Amino acid sequence: MAASFSSLALTQMLPFLPLAQGDIDYQTQRRSDPNLFADVLAQPGTTVVLVRDGLVAVPDGQAARVDYETAKIRLAGVPGQYVLREFGDKLGDCEETGIIPIFLGSYGVGSEHPQAVVALDISGFALKDGIGGGAAQTQVLGRALQRFDWVSLMGFAPHASAREAGQATTAVALSRWHDNQRYCPRCGCPVRPAMAGWAQQCGNADCKAHESLLFPRIEPAVITSIVDGQDRLLLQHNRTWKNPLHYSVCAGFVEAGENLEHAVRREAIEETGLMLGEVKYLGSQPWPFPASLMVAFKARALGTDVKVDGRETLDARFFTRDEFAEALTRGKVVQPGKATIARYMIEEWYGQKL
Ligand SMILES: [Zn+2]
Repeated sequence: MAASFSSLALTQMLPFLPLAQGDIDYQTQRRSDPNLFADVLAQPGTTVVLVRDGLVAVPDGQAARVDYETAKIRLAGVPGQYVLREFGDKLGDCEETGIIPIFLGSYGVGSEHPQAVVALDISGFALKDGIGGGAAQTQVLGRALQRFDWVSLMGFAPHASAREAGQATTAVALSRWHDNQRYCPRCGCPVRPAMAGWAQQCGNADCKAHESLLFPRIEPAVITSIVDGQDRLLLQHNRTWKNPLHYSVCAGFVEAGENLEHAVRREAIEETGLMLGEVKYLGSQPWPFPASLMVAFKARALGTDVKVDGRETLDARFFTRDEFAEALTRGKVVQPGKATIARYMIEEWYGQKL
């Protein structure tokens, strides 16, 4: 495998994962600063990127590049100073503006010109009246909504630079969380964004979540490359996958009270009937659709007698590298998409890019 190894977020085993490439300094200590957005947006080096309903803004015409293997796509930005001029103090008032500003962090902290990145989640703004209607308050974002292309994170990340893929992943993950959790899970009162977009505060001053805040719940899932004694890889087809030729590795959610290793072994038995021997950690990638963290392992099966459950998993078989390459070439098997961790787990087993 190519050695594009990031010491921050990736392992040697999986040195490239499209949604796990962040090298930004979160600067978590700044999140509670009430003047954060005013200060950061006033700096000329600050980048402002836009997300909406799980989509990221890219320059006009770039959405079509998603389908081209080697095409690059970048995030569209709007000038921070324009945003500040239009919204000023109101920027933090999500109810009024429909905008959730998120401070993603900075590059080059400690240098002469640190570069901060702010994401604006404009899902709520986009629903408001008068978008792009020339209202003075909505010039910058109204124009952005109309002129930029909007693409999914899954489509964008494999074509993006490492930095922008990281920015987009965080922004989409937080945006989806805010969208899905509008009321306090403790008391049912409306919540508002807090900690520069990374948390929520319950609007009820008597609620525990007013003081202690609410943080995103991440849903861990395990995903496992299962190999046999001949180093053949087990690939399976699940009932919920629309394409009958789609084959991938074994995966499932971690149950309450269960650790990762137990989940790996349980899922293997449930879906394929295989007992696993040694289990090794490979790497992890956020999967904010809406809130998963995929934790990847590699495991050796203790036998080769595959028995699929017939409900969740319809077929599962071991492939040699030659068999798999031939099945791909002949179009008999379709592998997981380029944003998925499964794709890179299969390549790790295969020994090169597929
Ligand atoms: Zn509450």
